[in-house]
Amino acid sequence: MVSICLLGGAGEIGGNKILLYGGEGAVFLDFGLNLKKKREYAVGYGFERINRVLRNYLFVGILPMISGVYREDLALDEKILNGARNFSIDCCIISHGHLDHYGSLAFLKAETPIAVSKSMKALIEHSIETSGRTGIDREIFIYKDRRREELKKKVKIEEGLDEVERPLIIFEEGREIGKVPFQVLPIPVDHSIPATFGFRIETGKSSIAYTSDIRFHGVVSKYTEDFIEKTRGVDFLLIEGTRINDSTTRSEDDVKNEVIMETLKKSGKLVSTLVSSLDIDRVRTMIEAAEECGRIPVLSSRIYHLIKTLYEVESKVKLPKLENVKVYFEKRSIIDEGYFLGSTYFRGWLKKIYESLLNTDMLIKPEEISKDQDKYFLIFNSHQYVFELAEIQPIPGSLFIESTSEPHDEEQEIEWEKIENWINLLRLDSRWIHASGHANREDLLKIIREIKPKKVIPIHTENPREFKRLLEKEDIKVEVIQEGEEVKLS
Ligand SMILES: [Zn+2]
Repeated sequence: MVSICLLGGAGEIGGNKILLYGGEGAVFLDFGLNLKKKREYAVGYGFERINRVLRNYLFVGILPMISGVYREDLALDEKILNGARNFSIDCCIISHGHLDHYGSLAFLKAETPIAVSKSMKALIEHSIETSGRTGIDREIFIYKDRRREELKKKVKIEEGLDEVERPLIIFEEGREIGKVPFQVLPIPVDHSIPATFGFRIETGKSSIAYTSDIRFHGVVSKYTEDFIEKTRGVDFLLIEGTRINDSTTRSEDDVKNEVIMETLKKSGKLVSTLVSSLDIDRVRTMIEAAEECGRIPVLSSRIYHLIKTLYEVESKVKLPKLENVKVYFEKRSIIDEGYFLGSTYFRGWLKKIYESLLNTDMLIKPEEISKDQDKYFLIFNSHQYVFELAEIQPIPGSLFIESTSEPHDEEQEIEWEKIENWINLLRLDSRWIHASGHANREDLLKIIREIKPKKVIPIHTENPREFKRLLEKEDIKVEVIQEGEEVKLS
């Protein structure tokens, strides 16, 4: 008998944690961080005191109350888990590199295997390295034994490692994942980060499809079509519903056309855009738009770092070409007009990037951009780049395109009010041009009708009942599951 239990992502967006157990073992499909809840309860620096963080995460509901799964070095008083169901997890299978799908892995036991694809791993490692994430939040693939760290200072303890790599299972599209309970087939889907996978799972008695985050309007919509093909007729379809109440449509092509149109109106002025660095398709859209408008694309160091990393791991992801781009040279040091790379203010990865480009003509300084503003098209990834715009001093009326959204996916919450203050101060002309990472209502219904499962289980949505309402007249049942509720699949 196999059961399913949503321990995150039931009636809420983000923090997907789908537990599938019984028969052959137990696996989690995603073990994400509920960013909304984290923001609601984070005080000051968050939940940072290490001996309380796990307890507080459990207490406020960021992590589910189950025992047998969490690491034992964080001074957790087990009493808090008294009476909780106990599980032994064979593997956590991750669908993609957005925090709300993998961000709670750091709290699992060191020996819990994690299954990811090669490109997904590179994307997650890039995020950890470049996002300024600190402490326990960094321990996704590497586990640092905090108890041992302290004990060593107090008593003599046996040999061993303070830091260990968690066991990894690297999976590939179209091939069943090895060494996990059940037959799990990863199938790429279209979403706002490359290397996103849906799964088809056979438990012996029933078949389950999990969409992960999915859409039809991106550049790889054929992936989503292929997912539908490979999961047609399953018994259970776990489908995301971020936009079940939203019928707006804007495709990646629309984004490109609108950006080109707005850019062409700005001759003589600067154009800058803000994107998510993980959204490689959007970065490519922006590079192509810039080139079509006769401007030189200038990438932030973080975006350049990610694309270069993906080239290095020979990722299958379609990557933008870097031949004609420039990389923005940030001023970080006190001396040498900000460009002294020996300064500690250039972090390791940033220093490496700049050093590797010093003898090329790829690096470009704000002073150079400032002199020839209509030659360039800036592609930045973080709200902190408004400080760089202040450095450049755009000609009033220059264009600022905001091309991100979906804070539940994003690494950092954009503080829009403050950005708007800067936009006003710099007298920029701003536009919001974005295509969502998630399918709208009509596309969600299309996916369901084409797969035609026996039962739909909505997840990653604040409106699971809307699925029920929309599908009640059709031959497809919808089951709305509460968080923690056990549903038997066969
Ligand atoms: Zn996502």
